[in-house]
Amino acid sequence: MDNSNIARQEAIELDNQDKLAHFKQEFYIGDETLYMDGNSLGLLSKRAEETLLTSLEDWKHHAIEGWTDGEQPWYYMSEKLGEMTAPLIGAKKEEVINTGSITTNLHQLLATFFKPEGKKTKILADTLNFPSDIYALKSQLRLHGLDPEEHLIQVPSDDGRTLDEDTIIELMNNDVALLLLPSVLYRSGQLLDIKKLTEAAHEKGIIVGFDLAHSIGALPHELHEWEVDFAVWCTYKYLNSGPGGVGGLFVHEKHLGQAPGLAGWFSSRKDKQFDMDHTLIPAETAGAFQIGTPHILSSAPLIGSLKIFEEAGIENIRKKSLQQTEFMMKLIEQELDGFGFTIANPRENKRRGGHVSLEHDEAARICKALKEKHIIPDFRSPNVIRLAPIALYVSYEDIFEVVMHLKEIMEKQSYKKFENERGIIA
Ligand SMILES: *Cc1c(COP(=O)(O)O)cnc(C)c1O
Repeated sequence: MDNSNIARQEAIELDNQDKLAHFKQEFYIGDETLYMDGNSLGLLSKRAEETLLTSLEDWKHHAIEGWTDGEQPWYYMSEKLGEMTAPLIGAKKEEVINTGSITTNLHQLLATFFKPEGKKTKILADTLNFPSDIYALKSQLRLHGLDPEEHLIQVPSDDGRTLDEDTIIELMNNDVALLLLPSVLYRSGQLLDIKKLTEAAHEKGIIVGFDLAHSIGALPHELHEWEVDFAVWCTYKYLNSGPGGVGGLFVHEKHLGQAPGLAGWFSSRKDKQFDMDHTLIPAETAGAFQIGTPHILSSAPLIGSLKIFEEAGIENIRKKSLQQTEFMMKLIEQELDGFGFTIANPRENKRRGGHVSLEHDEAARICKALKEKHIIPDFRSPNVIRLAPIALYVSYEDIFEVVMHLKEIMEKQSYKKFENERGIIA
């Protein structure tokens, strides 16, 4: 047997031993499709479909009474989702609420926790974060009358892919009021040491926020124990809640009880909200950071999806995810040697998230050639192919197939018939 046949055998054996393998049947995907893009938009599961339909039925049969009387009462849905999410991030249930989107939640928590005072007026972030987070930081600085050129410090990256925790710590000086970082970098998949960074920042009296977009649902966290001040995330990536699915936020217990920077009637204590008083009595939970009426139809699918996470267990998901990305990297090295690929994510388990980041000068058109073969990767300009083998619905054999198709594309140079430019969404 040649090496690739040995690898195929290995994939089959790993699938046979995989205790999470049965979850794949719960997800919708074309028979032909190999889906490697669950870190951009997770797949629909039957359970998410069911809980969405339940909310529609509640509307159909209960109309306004659906707020309290339906099968999934809408008035408490955001809190229920927060409670279901808490185990995924190591939080107490009062510390979590599902609402808004990453960017709006970030605005809310910056409006609450960024309090420039005296010399302490700066925000520390990084040069590799997702643009939306940086736009939010700059606009919040401007709202305080502070020039982002001077007051936003972005940690540089030596290799353009990863960040060095010690460099970040060196930049934590007494001028910094707030630190915002991604837990996992969206391109290179680097996982930062959240605990170490939080401790170092607190020594300097800096408020610490993390964006969990690329770690929630992929790996466990201990946000409460690590004393992270706040966190934000979306649920349409690894948590499979659907396009535009409701976002989430965490506020550490020590900050609960204070008024939100951006208030609305859904910030209220739930028993007081319908008093309709003009003086807000904020909830004593993370619920205080909600603003307006929850988007029920983009929250409901998450209930079903989180039931799957409850059953599978985030530790098991992480274990499989690490084994899958390891298997993928091993195959890439074995089969794609000499074709100009670079594995751009860190290799140590404790420094990487749930996707493999492959760099190639022809990345845009290689992605188009993959799509022609019903393989869905994700391209990030200018040269990154992200491949995310999602533990809940990707098999080891799928991973094997993806790498072998990639090899064929490179051998036959079939990518050359496409332009090396990204599509409108990439
Ligand atoms: C996906 C992602 C976003 C998107 O923000 P939304 O407000 O949900 O559109 C923001 N930041 C990071 C780091 C992301 O990965």
